[in-house]
Amino acid sequence: MTEPRSAVTGLAWPALPDSVGASLLAVHYQLAQSEWWPAPRLEDASFRQLAVLLRHARDTVPAYAQRLANAPVDDPQALAAHWPSIPLLRRTDVQTLGEALHSRAVPADHGQVIAYHTSGSTGRPLRGLETELSHFFFGALNLREHLWQRRDFGGTFAAIRTQVQDARQPGWGRAIEAVFDTGPALTLPIHTPVERQLDWLLANDPDYLLTHPSNLRGLLLAARARGVTPARLRGLGNFGEQLPVDLRALCDAVWGLPLADIYSCEEAGYLALQCPEVPEHYHVQAENVFIEVLDAHGAPCPPGASGEVVLTTLHNFAMPLIRYAIGDLAEVGASCPCGRGLPVLRRIHGRARNLVRLPDGSRHWPSFPAEEWLAIAPVRQFRLRQTGPERIEVDLVAARPLAAAEQRAVQAMLQRRLGHAFDIALRPVAAIDRGAGGKFEDFVSELDD
Ligand SMILES: [Zn+2]
Repeated sequence: MTEPRSAVTGLAWPALPDSVGASLLAVHYQLAQSEWWPAPRLEDASFRQLAVLLRHARDTVPAYAQRLANAPVDDPQALAAHWPSIPLLRRTDVQTLGEALHSRAVPADHGQVIAYHTSGSTGRPLRGLETELSHFFFGALNLREHLWQRRDFGGTFAAIRTQVQDARQPGWGRAIEAVFDTGPALTLPIHTPVERQLDWLLANDPDYLLTHPSNLRGLLLAARARGVTPARLRGLGNFGEQLPVDLRALCDAVWGLPLADIYSCEEAGYLALQCPEVPEHYHVQAENVFIEVLDAHGAPCPPGASGEVVLTTLHNFAMPLIRYAIGDLAEVGASCPCGRGLPVLRRIHGRARNLVRLPDGSRHWPSFPAEEWLAIAPVRQFRLRQTGPERIEVDLVAARPLAAAEQRAVQAMLQRRLGHAFDIALRPVAAIDRGAGGKFEDFVSELDD
């Protein structure tokens, strides 16, 4: 593994990093222990931090004065017992409450208050505040993610994503460079056409690539059609969207590469990171966020069950989000054979609007593996919308127009994947736009409910 970088003249080993690097390593030293703690010890530690956070929120954030009036913020154990009675904060609440969620007295040593905007694939963007301290923890978990996935910091890291230019930076980002000497980082905007993205990858030949799942799928299909593999690429990372069920297998089949998925959100940063040993498991980043997965009655889901993700940020004292129902649904996992005590999510299903509703009222998360499309026709990209109880409309980008028999085969395949003989309308399009946030959903329900 790469050695930490030294900031002191003439000191090669052992290294003395600069103050930011030293702080990150100090936290990393603790994270490297706490990830192995048993669940009850992690929960005790979480509630020690939650008690401090809630006292601050009750006393300095107007929106919480009432909500937390009865919370026993001086006793972490009592707070844990009281916790389920704290009202949930919905996305619409956050929009409505606005500045009433801002603290009137952020501790000075949390650094500057920083504004952020969520892009909001729902079309309802939020404005929020964080601090230099909460951003520092983002950096610490960014570092953990690289270390868990055993990346070589000396390599070239490429990201195809939103909010970036076509650019080359000398390092992997402030937090990582404070601790390690790194190779360069390359960025490309996600709106770049896929064929050009592939040319860019082949020309720059990075060691790692981070992008959104739908974009990675497009790249893999384009690469397979051309029969090309970026020579040095050794790891793929994903974030920002629900992971399609077939994407890991596709990465393996086309480029022979592993995939590391990240569950994150703009309001709270890293929520769960893929286990280094068990790829199907996502470990909740319990040292920075408290996550509950709740059923329709508000009770915690047992392993194997899916429910609503409710999060509480532990370190953002500028705009604490307490029991915030982010709108995602996830499946709770059993404890992980890797031995880490960090809670496990098995699948992140995305939003309720990604559920298909059958005429009998039942719902499920449909999936549409690339192999099933490609067995029928050269389909490059697709998006399904449920526009009525019996109606599905499909936008399709294909290498050539589909023959009538292929169209019928696609309709039959989709009816099988959806679990009902829907009326399916296919519409060939030249391209499918990403939403305002650059994110992409395979399936969206437009039914009101
Ligand atoms: Zn694990």
